[in-house]
Amino acid sequence: MSGCTGCGVCVGECGFLKLYGSPRDIARSYDPDDPKKNVVCFECSLCGLCSAVCPTGVKPQALFLEMRREAVDRGFGSFREHRGLLGYERTGTSRRFSWYGLPEGCTTIFFPGCALPGTRPGVTVAVYERLKEVFPDLGLLFNAPKPSSGPVTYVNRLRLKSRFKRIVPAVTTRERTVPGGGSGMLRPLLFLGVMIAAIVLVRASGAGQYLEPERLRALFSGFGIVAPLVYIAIYTVAPTLMLPGLPLSMAGATVFGPVWGVVYTIIGATLGACAAFLIARYAARDWVERQLVGSRWNKLDSETAQNGWKAVAFTRLIPLFPFNLLNFAFGLTKISFPQYAVATFIFMLPGTIAFITFSSSLLGLLKGKVSREFFIGIVLIVAVSLIPRLAKWYRRI
Ligand code: SF4
Ligand code: SF4
Repeated sequence: MSGCTGCGVCVGECGFLKLYGSPRDIARSYDPDDPKKNVVCFECSLCGLCSAVCPTGVKPQALFLEMRREAVDRGFGSFREHRGLLGYERTGTSRRFSWYGLPEGCTTIFFPGCALPGTRPGVTVAVYERLKEVFPDLGLLFNAPKPSSGPVTYVNRLRLKSRFKRIVPAVTTRERTVPGGGSGMLRPLLFLGVMIAAIVLVRASGAGQYLEPERLRALFSGFGIVAPLVYIAIYTVAPTLMLPGLPLSMAGATVFGPVWGVVYTIIGATLGACAAFLIARYAARDWVERQLVGSRWNKLDSETAQNGWKAVAFTRLIPLFPFNLLNFAFGLTKISFPQYAVATFIFMLPGTIAFITFSSSLLGLLKGKVSREFFIGIVLIVAVSLIPRLAKWYRRI
């Protein structure tokens, strides 16, 4: 750390430095690949007292902040304790809860912050109206990066957002493109709720007699080779039209069963991923580039340049990106098409097997019948969902 003489003045003032030594000592012993060294910087509170007392004007907190960024980039800095906070933050800054509106000639923007819109929506609007009298071209930046407690604050923000959309005479508007919304538990709970409702409905209506997997399979087997070909063809086209593959996979699992369902689905999904890749690379580069704004897409580009097929493998095993956009995004990177296609096929296979096995049991489940495929599917889904944790653990050791 240049400028630090190791005089120890700051060490005398700071409990953190007393524990680990002067900023110069910490900088000298720092090893970006050592997880133990990476977590040290998170114990500094970044209060800045050290720089206030430093006789040579060094700013150690800047060093510790930089070390934190480095640790996060290397996957060391995402702590279990932060999960709730990050979930709140993701929700607060998601598309659903954000809105930016700029009127013609806007030079001043009102940012109501986090707590005010959530707890006092009426006051927020009143402040906006008052400011607008002083700045007629007042714009609005509405999102709440910090968490605020209680569901009411989220309801308030949603209502406030639609109110602002009506009263701000914006010519340019935008919602935040950071993906998010929810702490991660919302989707599984919704899925569970829908499943329970469907089971109750099927049982109450007596529709179960029409939902025999064997009956359905017998019906489609009458179409011979045509049925799988049609299924694969639809699956090939779906990703390029940005259609979700989930319902399609469930239908495939039900009609073709766990074994042939996997075979046809992995073929279709790989062909679909390849079609999107080729479209992005050779036909619609500009359009795809416009869809991929944000640092994580830039990171994907550099990761792919550095690690080639391993980047494809990683993103197929760990669903960090929306599947359809990811296929297009790889078309813009420098990876070769054969490498991409082979890695996609191989590393999508575990998730496909797990999901199709589970989905093939859903018809039985709707009728209240819990099959062997259901348990195998659950075990496989849990195993696949543990892959991100294993990957993180592997990167730490
Ligand atoms: S940061 Fe400043 S006060 Fe602290 S050890 Fe270095 S030179 Fe001394
Ligand atoms: S910024 Fe960090 S190192 Fe500096 S005094 Fe505060 S806690 Fe200590």
